Amino acid sequence: MAREFDLVVLGAGPGGYVAAIRAAQLGMNVAVVEKDKLGGTCLHRGCIPSKALLRSAEVYATLAEGEKYGVEAGGVALNFAKVQARKRAIVEQLHKGVQHLMKKGKITVVKGYGRLMGPSIFSPRSGAIRVETQDGEQEILVPEHVLIATGSRPRTLPGLDVDGEVVMTSDEALEMEALPKSIVIVGGGVIGVEWASMLRDFGVEVTVVEFLDRILPTEDEEISKEMARILKKRGVTIHTGTKVLPETFRKTDGGFTVEADKGGQRLTLSAEKMLVSVGRVPNVEDIGLESTEIELEKGFIKVNDYYQTKEKHIYAIGDVIATPQLAHVASHEGIVAVEHMVGLSPDPIDYTKVPRVTYSRPEVASVGLTEREAREKGYEVKVGKFNFRGNGKALIFGEPDGFVKVVADAKTNDLLGVHIIGPHASDLITEAGLARVLDATPWEVAHTVHPHPTLAEAIMEAALAVDGKAIHG
Ligand code: FAD
Repeated sequence: MAREFDLVVLGAGPGGYVAAIRAAQLGMNVAVVEKDKLGGTCLHRGCIPSKALLRSAEVYATLAEGEKYGVEAGGVALNFAKVQARKRAIVEQLHKGVQHLMKKGKITVVKGYGRLMGPSIFSPRSGAIRVETQDGEQEILVPEHVLIATGSRPRTLPGLDVDGEVVMTSDEALEMEALPKSIVIVGGGVIGVEWASMLRDFGVEVTVVEFLDRILPTEDEEISKEMARILKKRGVTIHTGTKVLPETFRKTDGGFTVEADKGGQRLTLSAEKMLVSVGRVPNVEDIGLESTEIELEKGFIKVNDYYQTKEKHIYAIGDVIATPQLAHVASHEGIVAVEHMVGLSPDPIDYTKVPRVTYSRPEVASVGLTEREAREKGYEVKVGKFNFRGNGKALIFGEPDGFVKVVADAKTNDLLGVHIIGPHASDLITEAGLARVLDATPWEVAHTVHPHPTLAEAIMEAALAVDGKAIHG
């Protein structure tokens, strides 16, 4: 049986399902092929479950130090089974929401594993999709356009075999039934730092090992330094410039031991569990790419500014292409791709205007160029900084650590980047994102009246500080 569609989307993560909804709004007859669950990594193994756990950890840590707020909670205890149940309930509620949205958009959901076909009796050009459905049947879908949104999976390290018991990736860690006493986190990027912060708040003994010379290596250097300082203050051990030596990995009664090389010095690390968080690999294998003209570059699907592959009617977005592996990026790419398919002229995404967030405590959020990147690009840079310690709302929250840093072009006064480490940075960064989209200057940000007392005043003050005019700094 072959069914015809205007668009078939392969994979229903935040890239694929959002694109499907936008395509349906634009009048396309759309099918989505999903081998697992609508919502993808983000909803089931990423953004949502991890943030639900982070919130429980934050509540626990806050209650544990309730006296600081004049609240004597007493006998604060953690019920991790309930923490997990709450997480699952949130995921399920949102999962139902996505199912509803598919129905509302009259989008056909095909449950099964899809592979692209080359030219065939179903279509003279490649792009028909053969689906192995969950009940073992085969179905052929023949679309006008295809959108590949098959996402990514955790990268593993040879020699550190993931068994889900001792060695885990974030997939297994999210499903832990009980908390370990101790953990070594290999990789101090976004996912590693989020887990370090969360597990420490839950009372776990945490060691982070990072190969590069700083944690959060894609963030501004001052942000990395501040995050390391705060995590260390909370009792997290951090080894940067350190390489775990997988060949030395041994399981023990209570967990494992492994050696690491820290600038020529040998360290022996041991813990109950290990979390390997060393990046994610695009899902490009076994989806039939070899039967098409589609090209890969460094393992990712190669696309143009509108996400067209070498076969112009086949598009690819999200974690399978070499853009930031973030849910909101995948969704926006999906929207641009389908708008381009129907002949609209969407603006290509300017990735220097896209915010990125680490949901640790405190949070880190940024948009645009770091100070170093700006200097390397030849800008004459001026910087404004404001510490949350001088912000009334941060003190009221009991979260005075961190700062806002604004990077600007000294010649044109353009706003080049904003970097925040502090409470609710994830919500604050959108102001900076909007400022970048509107090409606002620090002066314009600073002269937007900010309500008092708010955390956002720290952005205003940092913007004023660019010209040495901070009021409270
Ligand atoms: P995915 O979400 O990976 O979805 C791809 C879908 O395709 C999956 O459902 C898969 O089952 C399906 N699929 C694959 N192959 C086939 C096939 N052949 N046939 C049928 N179906 C197929 N990003 C953020 O922006 N904010 C966060 O807070 C955040 N937190 C994260 C936390 C963790 C622990 C992790 C792992 C990731 C996090 N991310 C976060 C990243 C985010 O989850 C991804 O960037 C995002 O999910 C990518 O979306 P996507 O649609 O490209 O792919």
